[in-house]
Amino acid sequence: MTDLENRWAEINRRLDAACARVGREPGTVQVMAVSKTRLPDEIRDVAALGVETFGENKVQEARAKIPLCPGRLHWHLIGHLQSNKAREAVQLFEMIHAVDSLRLLEILDRAAGEEGRQLSVCLEVNVSGERSKFGMAPEAVLETLRGAERLFKVKVVGLMTIPPVSEDPEEARPFFRALRELRDRMQDQTGIPLPELSMGMSQDFEVAIEEGATWIRVGTLLFGPRPRKEPHGLDS
Ligand SMILES: *Cc1c(COP(=O)(O)O)cnc(C)c1O
Repeated sequence: MTDLENRWAEINRRLDAACARVGREPGTVQVMAVSKTRLPDEIRDVAALGVETFGENKVQEARAKIPLCPGRLHWHLIGHLQSNKAREAVQLFEMIHAVDSLRLLEILDRAAGEEGRQLSVCLEVNVSGERSKFGMAPEAVLETLRGAERLFKVKVVGLMTIPPVSEDPEEARPFFRALRELRDRMQDQTGIPLPELSMGMSQDFEVAIEEGATWIRVGTLLFGPRPRKEPHGLDS
């Protein structure tokens, strides 16, 4: 086995074990390969393992890279999106994980209509209240969901969060749990199905799975250490 094959096997072993601990079916957890800063050749190698969904955090980088990658892949945007890039984001991505305002949802809906596309999104929630973070306050989610019911092309399918940076994955647990509980309350109050919970990265994906993650976003653990350092907050 190559190093990459070994890393992928290890991720799956840990994913299965985390599911087993809480009685979940491994098929209910999807792995997104976070390919920011990675070259098309590296992406091709990961795709050859059978990984189909890749996450990018910058529109410009994705625009340059996606045409050089295998055509059958699914691309998700996981970084903060500026409204002036909404149109391009709609052209490039099937799903956007970090939408943090009703205004951006409306802009995306218009862009999707013009492009003849449908778009799934998760609302990014700043559960920790850290000031350095993007994401909406938990209290803003209800009104945003109600506003989003009027949109035709954009569908809110769940919630996403990034917990505070920590060495100890257990420290992320309360934030993952809070996101799931918020999701449950929002479903009850609005009747809008919110099946997706996008939470957990290389560092803490097992805890996220135990707390209900349906999308884990794994970069370093799959591709190896990133060559360049990421800016603080990860999703800039
Ligand atoms: C970079 C990034 C990840 C992946 O981080 P790793 O620690 O490399 O797994 C996940 N989610 C977001 C939003 C990111 O920006």
